[in-house]
Amino acid sequence: MVQTLNTFLESNLNELKDNGLYNEIDIVEGANGAEITIGGKQYINLSSNNYLGLATNEDLKKAAKDAIDSHGVGAGAVRTINGTLDLHKELEETLAQFKGTESAIAYQSGFNCNMAAISAVMNKHDAILSDELNHASIIDGCRLSKAKIIRVNHSDMEDLRNKAKEAVESGQYNKVMYITDGVFSMDGDVAKLPEIVEIAEEFGLITYVDDAHGSGVMGKGAGTVKHFGLQDKIDFQIGTLSKAIGVVGGYVAGTKDLIDWLKVASRPFLFSTSLAPGDTKAITESVKKLMASTELHDKLWDNANYLKEGLKAKGFDIGHSETPITPVIIGEEKKAQTFSKRLMDEGVYAKAIVFPTVPRGTGRVRNMPTAAHTKEQLDKAIDIYEKIGKELGLI
Ligand code: PMP
Repeated sequence: MVQTLNTFLESNLNELKDNGLYNEIDIVEGANGAEITIGGKQYINLSSNNYLGLATNEDLKKAAKDAIDSHGVGAGAVRTINGTLDLHKELEETLAQFKGTESAIAYQSGFNCNMAAISAVMNKHDAILSDELNHASIIDGCRLSKAKIIRVNHSDMEDLRNKAKEAVESGQYNKVMYITDGVFSMDGDVAKLPEIVEIAEEFGLITYVDDAHGSGVMGKGAGTVKHFGLQDKIDFQIGTLSKAIGVVGGYVAGTKDLIDWLKVASRPFLFSTSLAPGDTKAITESVKKLMASTELHDKLWDNANYLKEGLKAKGFDIGHSETPITPVIIGEEKKAQTFSKRLMDEGVYAKAIVFPTVPRGTGRVRNMPTAAHTKEQLDKAIDIYEKIGKELGLI
């Protein structure tokens, strides 16, 4: 007898619930800003990736509304069948300018983008060296490509060099790619791109940087690749349009040939309807804003440094983040979850992140300060942290 769907679902759901691993998702009433409302109660929101506060920006909202008026709410079909909207063309030209590349292509999400780009270029005759802490969408994109996946110890350049050498000298592979996040989302550390580029040049690797958490944040807003001045050295600059950019979608920026190839070979471009007009115009407005001024970027960093200093001064371990991502390391998984629940009781919304997302015993509450927070909100959050920290014997 085979297992029925109902038996499968029931046993697996019950197992998760019995182990406290079933994630009840909160319903947010209204906008996802510096404060959010859940169950009628207001919270200081330290959980979103809305780094620059652009998700609720008035100019972006107006751009979206105008585009809906002129172009409707849906793109109609995939672009190869129904054409590219003028709004998509404008967005992609703006993205290429933003990233300092010849060309760019937009996808419906950052996740889709990794599924699309990796498998359009890599195949079963190739190998992909992948940082062990890379995002789930990179892992899935690598699997989809059927290339040999070689895990590289996190940001370990000696391990990368050894494994690159071994893969290239084995003569088994047509192409070898190295993929890394630009900014790692759990610890806030930055990929060592200058050393990566050096190793890539020595061994002829294709380089791929997913800058989901770096775009709008690093390089005065233009991203981690620009931060290191390596726009000409990284083959794929990819990222999401849903975090600092504030809307939804993903992009690949690179040479004209790379983008031309993705338009004929990447399946989410060929078989999935493109970004909606309102989103497309709002993204373009957002990227133009970032190119015109660093004001929001500067505010983000100011707030992030303020929160980090405040938590550190109270005696918390905030790890070694080099970016606004601010983990408070708690240790034991259950304690991290209790800490997060107590924060919520007191009016701070910040989620616990535990094994297997981070190594066992390094459970944490991850805080995402944004440009939209006020100093008063951050002060209040720090005071609440202190209260719970003392209560749980952490400080
Ligand atoms: N790559 C990385 C590194 C990410 O952090 C994320 C977002 N969680 C994604 C890709 C997926 O982006 P999106 O949410 O736009 O699908």
